[in-house]
Amino acid sequence: MRILLVEDDNQLSNAMSAALREDDYVVDIAASKKAALAALDAAGYDLVVLDIGLPDGTGFDIVHTLRRRDSGVPVLILTARDAIEDKVRGLDLGADDYLVKPIALKELAARVRALVRRGRCGSSPTLRAGGLELDTVGRQAFHQGHPVPLTAREWGALEYLAARTGRIVSKEQLLQTLCGWDHDVTINAVEMTVHRLRTKVEPYGVNIRTVRGLGYMLERDE
Ligand code: CA
Repeated sequence: MRILLVEDDNQLSNAMSAALREDDYVVDIAASKKAALAALDAAGYDLVVLDIGLPDGTGFDIVHTLRRRDSGVPVLILTARDAIEDKVRGLDLGADDYLVKPIALKELAARVRALVRRGRCGSSPTLRAGGLELDTVGRQAFHQGHPVPLTAREWGALEYLAARTGRIVSKEQLLQTLCGWDHDVTINAVEMTVHRLRTKVEPYGVNIRTVRGLGYMLERDE
């Protein structure tokens, strides 16, 4: 799960991103409206956490842009304590929830969980791959009710591939999914992850095919 955190206060964004990463989310930080829009163009996000007051514009502009593009990505806005009208305006524009500053990190984590869950409701919270059931809310694979242990990266790769069963996924797409831009993850690491994942899930009838020069594909069940 990948979150875009838009906040120009470095101290606050560092604290928030650390808390979210602890919950295994991949977090990208944008400190301006321009950086946020560029990030949204470049990658797919499961949630946007959005400060209203930005140096080159407002969070409202970003919500507006997202909704005009018919993006259904959940948006959590961060507002100042005394700005009730910000809250109303943000929700009117299509934000899903708000948090009032100063932010309590535990509350942030709880709101994020709820929004991500809600965002998933449109799609199925459970994906299937071979003989495995993937619980996308609890981020855990099961075989006949028994958990199959995977690392966070392996899970991320499996979830991404399973959501695109029968379609080719490039190594670059997996790289984007598995790492925040501030992490030093290489194509080699992606290959290693898929290699290890494959040995773990093959016994359950999950086939991840290498498509030469293009990437990987999780094959449909026969
Ligand atoms: Ca601000």
